[in-house]
Amino acid sequence: MDADDLSFILNHLGEDREAGFRAVVPPVVQSGNFAYPTVAALRQAMHNEFDLPVYTRGANPTVAVVRRKLAALEHAEDALLFSSGSAAITAGIMAFVRAGDHVVSVRKPYSWTHKLLTALLPRYGVECTFVDGSDAANFRDATTPRTRLFVLESPNSLTFELQDLRAVAGIAREHGIITLCDNSYSSPVFQNPIDLGIDLVAHSGTKYLNGHSDVVCGVLAGSAANIRQVMEREFMTLGAVPSPHDAWLLMRGLRTLELRTNRSADSAERVARFLEAHPKVRQVNWPFLESFPQYGLAKRQMRRCGGLMSFRLHAADIAAVERFCNSLQRFLMAVSWGGHESLLFPTAAVVDPDAQTSELPWDLVRLYVGLEDPETLIQDLDQALARV
Ligand SMILES: *Cc1c(COP(=O)(O)O)cnc(C)c1O
Repeated sequence: MDADDLSFILNHLGEDREAGFRAVVPPVVQSGNFAYPTVAALRQAMHNEFDLPVYTRGANPTVAVVRRKLAALEHAEDALLFSSGSAAITAGIMAFVRAGDHVVSVRKPYSWTHKLLTALLPRYGVECTFVDGSDAANFRDATTPRTRLFVLESPNSLTFELQDLRAVAGIAREHGIITLCDNSYSSPVFQNPIDLGIDLVAHSGTKYLNGHSDVVCGVLAGSAANIRQVMEREFMTLGAVPSPHDAWLLMRGLRTLELRTNRSADSAERVARFLEAHPKVRQVNWPFLESFPQYGLAKRQMRRCGGLMSFRLHAADIAAVERFCNSLQRFLMAVSWGGHESLLFPTAAVVDPDAQTSELPWDLVRLYVGLEDPETLIQDLDQALARV
């Protein structure tokens, strides 16, 4: 994205200051419903409920400002804001499948996307096949005459495998299949799937977009026709809409999106290189390291690489992993990522080290590099690695 476009979107686009008391910051329109002076005016609003505020589940002026910014950030015609990323992904998937249809998804998508595809949709007669997304041809091979949708996440947020988005979108086009890509990892600053031919882009706005660990929200962006279809059915019936106040907080987070993502990416590169050179570290998963198996694709497809990475420790046992994690002073142990604060999440918190069947190694640690001083973070990692 052009830097000038990016700063215009983040600082001005969609903000009608005349309509907001000339306030520099658009007001929070914390109102559930909107009144009209005449039947004719009400009738007009009822016929255009998604553009004129009637009821806040459909349209709200504060949410509308953020919608315009999010659509522009993803080079999309329109976007919807949801009360969580999971709601955005669910609505985006449900809107385009019906009983008897088939979905092809990349293996290891976000955990609740996986749950939707394996536990909920089969109850309504929608089946899903999971494929290794590192070879685009696997999507073609898994396609049947009933395939309606490809679900992508490039990279994923634990081991960071990529899909060649342009190639997969090309295969989808040949077969009239819709594509949805979770772009939370990169944010629109570092990757725009729509430019590569993807139809729908989903985000957990909880992560980089909001960026302050104080709001849970989600985004779905795409063509005006596709977004209207989602709005008229899933968005309004499932009703997972954001509060005006959360939308306003998201807007405030967006002001610094470019600064935050670049700071996080700068620091992440230093941390990744430090870890890779450390004798206690076995393998670092971060797409912009030359050692990453899909480094070439990552460089082609992403402008930069975000602050989330994972690595395996040279640990004799799970107690050594725990010593490392418990010794860190500057990383909070928590789920999520994309905020100001650096985080770690060890798979040891969820996998059973004795169960041989687990796909996840117990010595894997996910690290999110936030906005703190990177040298302090590296020193902290260094002292904790000495305890492994
Ligand atoms: C967090 C996350 C989600 C889910 O978003 P919520 O806002 O937590 O509902 C989806 N995809 C990815 C990659 C995520 O990191």
